[in-house]
Amino acid sequence: MAQIRLAQLRKVFGKVVAVRDLDLEIADGEFMVFLGPSGCGKTTTLRCIAGLEQVDGGKIFIGQREVTDRPPGQRGIAMVFQSYAVFPHMSVFENIAFGLRLRRVEGAELRRRVADAAELMQIGALLDRYPSQLSGGQRQRVAVARAIVMRPQVLLMDEPLSNLDALLRLQMRAELRRLHREIRSTTVYVTHDQVEALSLGDRIAVMKDGEIVQCDTPARVYDAPASRFVGSFMGNPPMNFIEGTLQRGNGRLTIVTAGISIPLPPGLQAGAPPAQITLGIRPEHIGVEAAAAPDLIPSMVIVAEPVGPQKLLTVSVGPQMLKVSVPSEFPVDEGQPVWLRFEPARIRLMDSRTGIAL
Ligand code: ATP
Repeated sequence: MAQIRLAQLRKVFGKVVAVRDLDLEIADGEFMVFLGPSGCGKTTTLRCIAGLEQVDGGKIFIGQREVTDRPPGQRGIAMVFQSYAVFPHMSVFENIAFGLRLRRVEGAELRRRVADAAELMQIGALLDRYPSQLSGGQRQRVAVARAIVMRPQVLLMDEPLSNLDALLRLQMRAELRRLHREIRSTTVYVTHDQVEALSLGDRIAVMKDGEIVQCDTPARVYDAPASRFVGSFMGNPPMNFIEGTLQRGNGRLTIVTAGISIPLPPGLQAGAPPAQITLGIRPEHIGVEAAAAPDLIPSMVIVAEPVGPQKLLTVSVGPQMLKVSVPSEFPVDEGQPVWLRFEPARIRLMDSRTGIAL
């Protein structure tokens, strides 16, 4: 197994800087997720690690070795792609055995390793079938088995679940977690699905415009987004934002927006805050009351959507819309007032100009 280190990695396509001087260390055995919107450079970074792209600057280390100019075959990596890329004319057994045969692994050793990989992916009973006789989920299992049978130091996965339907995705996600616990290969996993990122990653590197804007544990990325971009990209519905002016009075900070004052909890310090500020808070961290009380923020329900055990409310605070959720039996309807309480510890303040968290 091996750690991965990217140092000032740069990749340019014509005028597009796909990867912008990126620094990152991935620990031995870690499951790292690259997450970000389409075109942010996730796949390109992964392909650079794999050796499928020549870099325009920087260095790549796998283990103690620099591999920047080495071909893919000498990097100790295996890849799983979105398109399963299994060979249609080969049985499942031969698909899994393919890379081993290239390495001249034969006989009992070959059979044992194929059987072990198939067992891990729970496709041991399918070894005689051909890909056309498999479901999408089974094909993707074959593709994963074909990668892990090589016992790679590093496993690279590019949106491996995105061709599967929702239920299968859920199942395979749990499978990949289990698999990683068992084989502990250093894994880099590309996705634009935040739920996948939150559930799979030891850490998530959130990318934007070829850069990593935050790299941290799922809990930290979710609870303490480094910027407005991260807060709005993670979470469904995403984090709420309120723009306002920060004022200080009676030893307390208040955000003023369109004539409404939102007192910030005592003890919340903003250092030397900028004048224009963005308050970020996740929907689940806003309490909703049916009656007014001191320090609650008045708002009006614009839309009430039933979503299973919850009701998702779109409420207005002055000119700004927020999403909050209440239990489905909460007695409220569109056009009615409600009062909001922001959980103090969950408030995230950002500089409105830069979007960066204070
Ligand atoms: P997606 O989720 O859509 O796959 P991504 O984050 O993986 O997006 P990349 O595929 O890494 O993004 O692309 C990063 C940028 O580089 C994009 O602007 C893309 O158009 C550009 N790009 C990628 N590959 C090439 C290529 N072979 N030639 C020219 N431009 C490319």
